[in-house]
Amino acid sequence: MVSGDCDLLVVGAGAAGIAAAREALSLGLRVRVLEARGRVGGRARTDHSLGTPFDMGATWLHAAQSNPLMPLAEAAGLWLFDHDAVRDSRVWMGDRWAGAAELRDYEAAERDWHAAVRLAAAGPAAEVRRMSLADAAPRGGFWDATLTHWEAPVISGAEARDIDLGDYLSTLLHGTNLMPRDGCGHLLEVLARGLPVALEAPVERISWGGRRVRAEGGFGVVEAGAAVVTVSTGVLASGAIRFDPALPGAAAQAAHDLPMGLLSKVGLRAAGDDRLDVPAFGGIERRLEEGERAMTFVAWPFGRDHLQGFAGGALAWEMAREGDAALVDLAFSELRRIYGGRADRALRRDGAVVSGWARDPWARGAYAALRPGCGGAREALSAPIGEGRLHLAGEACHTTLAGTLAGAWLSGAQAARSAAALLGLRPVPDLPA
Ligand SMILES: Cc1cc2nc3c(=O)[nH]c(=O)nc-3n(C[C@H](O)[C@H](O)[C@H](O)COP(=O)(O)OP(=O)(O)OC[C@H]3O[C@@H](n4cnc5c(N)ncnc54)[C@H](O)[C@@H]3O)c2cc1C
Repeated sequence: MVSGDCDLLVVGAGAAGIAAAREALSLGLRVRVLEARGRVGGRARTDHSLGTPFDMGATWLHAAQSNPLMPLAEAAGLWLFDHDAVRDSRVWMGDRWAGAAELRDYEAAERDWHAAVRLAAAGPAAEVRRMSLADAAPRGGFWDATLTHWEAPVISGAEARDIDLGDYLSTLLHGTNLMPRDGCGHLLEVLARGLPVALEAPVERISWGGRRVRAEGGFGVVEAGAAVVTVSTGVLASGAIRFDPALPGAAAQAAHDLPMGLLSKVGLRAAGDDRLDVPAFGGIERRLEEGERAMTFVAWPFGRDHLQGFAGGALAWEMAREGDAALVDLAFSELRRIYGGRADRALRRDGAVVSGWARDPWARGAYAALRPGCGGAREALSAPIGEGRLHLAGEACHTTLAGTLAGAWLSGAQAARSAAALLGLRPVPDLPA
């Protein structure tokens, strides 16, 4: 049984919860973290069943220059690899790989695609506020469908028609993408060491109407001066945690306006020595026609003997409904289109790993995407509730680094500072840029 009294209760030990707990401890607060799963890290989990680290969720430290996890990883002595320095993607054209001139054309088309999206967003504000990414994304060009597929289902985990245009632009990631050699999940495990985390303690009810906040579940009862709740918007909207009184309308609406997107990962191990003529970290993608969908791959990271496959958006939800084997089948059929029977000889079907975030009750998807026309929801989700006794935090709350570990971390730390101010222990410094 977990029970007792503390200054700050943190619900969830993912990136936001770990950051909130570390921040609150550094401010001198008595902290308790309640985590539903039997592990920390949330949507960052490093699996080892392929024999080497494989991140089921978060894989890269994006926007390295402004990523708060980068200095922490370095201080912990973890090796960060600059993936962009070796990025070498090949693009299948249906019957052959794209040649150098075609790849240059693809790069130019990418610049034009982004320019067209920005131009559409510069239109009359009242119209732009209601626009989706699909309304702005160019169509009909030779590479347009491929680029929209990359930016929406693959990067954002949602279809372009389901992504708010303004939010897409505000949350575009810039800068270097680093890969921790031992995994993002491992990084969070290291950063959570020594924190007062109770595992397998799912919170079922949070009462915040009185002077103190009270969390209840099968674990017992914990009371606190304030609480930071870092569960995904999918978990919030599911009603798995009963709030008493109910969350204010603006916060509940914000969780609804930020539904979970899905990015699913599959790990396939090499059967022998054949590496499909792709170097370590090499990307494999296909040029798509309008309406076509595909998986993308990153081969042999760190020279390891596995290939990572990604499926996003509606395709990923469809596969999730059919079960893990469907995603493995899809990965093989995608690779067979390119390599024919060589794909079956080069890769092993047995022991394949599949991420499974859709059916995970403590995640219910990968990361949130803002519905078109719902600007302001991220700010509404993170606004203090009950004079600051209750804060919602996590990746969906960050207005520029949404959907990332960095955004979750900054949001959690900020919520803890805000709660500390309420408790009268420290003033709230400015929000990080
Ligand atoms: C496939 C995939 C790929 C990704 N790739 C990247 C990437 O390359 N780079 C990047 O920066 N980000 C990436 N992300 C996103 C990143 O993983 C998330 O943005 C981040 O981990 C979210 O952290 P969080 O703390 O907001 O939420 P979470 O990690 O979900 O943490 C919330 C915690 O709350 C717990 N919880 C839920 N319900 C309860 C309850 N009732 N009681 C107690 N605890 C509860 C959960 O178990 C969880 O541990 C990826 C995500 C996925 C799924």
